[in-house]
Amino acid sequence: QAVSPAASQVPRYVRVNTLKTCVDDVIDFFKRQGYTYLGKAASVEELKALSGKKFLLDLHLPELLVFPAQTDLHDNLLYTSGHIILQDKASCLPAFLLGPAAGSHVIDACAAPGNKTSHLAAILKNKGQIFAFDVDPKRVATMNTLLTRAGVTGCQLAQQDFLTVDPRDSKYSRVTHILLDPSCSGSGMVTRGLGQEAAPSAERLQALAGFQRRALNHALSFPALQRLVYSTCSLHQEENEDVVQAVLQEWGSAFRLVTAFPSWPCRGLAAFSGAESCLRASPAETFTHGFFVAVLERCREGAPTPA
Ligand code: SAM
Repeated sequence: QAVSPAASQVPRYVRVNTLKTCVDDVIDFFKRQGYTYLGKAASVEELKALSGKKFLLDLHLPELLVFPAQTDLHDNLLYTSGHIILQDKASCLPAFLLGPAAGSHVIDACAAPGNKTSHLAAILKNKGQIFAFDVDPKRVATMNTLLTRAGVTGCQLAQQDFLTVDPRDSKYSRVTHILLDPSCSGSGMVTRGLGQEAAPSAERLQALAGFQRRALNHALSFPALQRLVYSTCSLHQEENEDVVQAVLQEWGSAFRLVTAFPSWPCRGLAAFSGAESCLRASPAETFTHGFFVAVLERCREGAPTPA
């Protein structure tokens, strides 16, 4: 499945960091900088048609502004001060769809550089507890800087292999929500103007899928878990629907897929019955990077351990 030529036309998405500001104030700021605000988009096609110094409010996500593809905001004061986060729309879906209530205990299992963690903190209104893990020390250091800039508190960030985190540790006894965004082939990422990376080999895909299955299994073993979002920026079924199907099968009737964002136009590939509950995103159909999201919920108390 190739990324379409429309890839370089993916709009510039701007997530308003509600820990520091609000949508109206950011809109006013951009207006004062000479941008024209066109209101809330009515269709995805409107996002694609943006040009010049115009911007819209996204139609799906309430705190997301949309600018023309070529807009560079890396030097903008709102970005350098952490009031806005430059984050693709598809990458905003996992935390939004996990939707933990303020006060919840949440794990972000593969968290760096931390855009989804800071989004979770905003959804939690900095109330509750986030346990964030990443195995890569450099990425953890970057993430610390990003979280501080974004005004995130109540997040314990650890440089640790998530697979070694003990689900029975009393620290995690109140963890009801997990976001799992593991390493993947990245085949959905649009490299602006640089062309596509070579396709991953079958061996690499197999190795990635093996890790993704282990990580998903591990996440489901947290005893108080109620809801989990699994996401990748991969287009490959092996890393997406196949991982979800394999792990759900291992857990029998303990967890079920719930329909992620019912009105989202682009669904999971028909790899198994119910796979349309998952969602996909792509430059051609949703004007975002390529992405996959599955939302799992516990069916009943006392889930058995997998066979
Ligand atoms: N969720 C992040 C965000 O939105 O900014 C992006 C995560 S990136 C797709 C995957 C991350 O998983 C990488 O930072 C990688 O270092 C980390 N990772 C890979 N294996 C891991 C493991 N066993 N435990 C924890 N983190 C791991």
